[in-house]
Amino acid sequence: MPPPIASKLPKVGTTIFTVMSQLAAEHKAVNLGQGFPDYMPPAPLVEALARAMAEGKNQYAPMTGLPALRQAIAAKVKRCYGRDVNVDTEVTVTSGGTEAIFDAVQAVVRPGDEVIVLDPAYDCYEPAVDLAGGRTIHVPLDPQDFGVDWDRVKAALTKRTRAVMINTPHNPCGAIFSKWDMEQLAALLEPTGAFLISDEVYEHIVYDGRRHESVLRFPALADRAFAVSSFGKTYHCTGWKVGYCVAPPALSAEFRKVHQFVTFATSTPAQAAFAEMMAKHPEHDEGLSAFYQSKRDAFAEKLRGTRFRPLPVPGGYFQLVDYSAVSDLDDLAFCRWLTIEKGVTAIPLSPFYEAPPKGQRLARLCFAKADATLVAGIERLGRI
Ligand code: GLN
Repeated sequence: MPPPIASKLPKVGTTIFTVMSQLAAEHKAVNLGQGFPDYMPPAPLVEALARAMAEGKNQYAPMTGLPALRQAIAAKVKRCYGRDVNVDTEVTVTSGGTEAIFDAVQAVVRPGDEVIVLDPAYDCYEPAVDLAGGRTIHVPLDPQDFGVDWDRVKAALTKRTRAVMINTPHNPCGAIFSKWDMEQLAALLEPTGAFLISDEVYEHIVYDGRRHESVLRFPALADRAFAVSSFGKTYHCTGWKVGYCVAPPALSAEFRKVHQFVTFATSTPAQAAFAEMMAKHPEHDEGLSAFYQSKRDAFAEKLRGTRFRPLPVPGGYFQLVDYSAVSDLDDLAFCRWLTIEKGVTAIPLSPFYEAPPKGQRLARLCFAKADATLVAGIERLGRI
């Protein structure tokens, strides 16, 4: 018998993504739940990975990341957001965006500190804060358009606020921050000592000619921020688990102390492959919004022929649908029913809230799927 274990994360079970993917597999449902593409990464990237392994790039990478990849990231930050970042002191490659978020939280949050998140908030934020001994303060987004009420954020800021976490484009809602939002945030943080942890893993997926407002565009924000991104969404390879964090030197130094004992270093051949891909095909990320916009539009159009009502999607690759014309079940029960009885898997929203809005009847569908998968999903939704 092992000794009794008191959980450090008593509220945490298996993530909703894993739960729903398992249920989808059990019931052979069309899986529009967990956010991962069911198509291949770009061929030159796959070839570069195979070649990197064949060439013997199979041992530990430098702790902070391969220099060629850090250079490519710095060049991208300059090209996209106009910020000069030092390749050696401000860019760290991690094993995915989730690791980077965890590292940033552990680097700055101490017992008793408060961290503000905006609900619905991606599921890995609060456990990271809990493990650091901090307290998560949940500020709800507008339940209609998922905009931020900056007065509520202001009211939540206290002397104990160690960090604010933001996510744009937003998962699960698809909302994006405007320039105005970023300016509000900068004004709120200006008199404080709070850090900013900005989850921007969908940075290259924004629609209808809008632009992504990275914290890296705003010196007042970037100077206090851990800007986190990932290659999984940009290059259709969520399973390779490579991400990165851009932060000022003093912040990166503390971030790296955590990173080096969480994973030490990130997959060497994958880093080599991304470095080559970014150098040879810098245009890849520029085509991504158009690629997903046509999926978004076709999917929403077909949804309008069903009893599910699609909500606007300014960014990211998730479509929220209002299912109140179909069912009055709560979202957890509804998503189970939809998978088991109707063969389509969606993600409920309530796990992303401290207190889900009463009577909210929304589910998240992922449209980063092959057209055939989306058509198969719609066909089943259309029969309901
Ligand atoms: N980011 C993915 C999503 O939102 C899931 C990642 C995971 O399964 N942890 O669906």
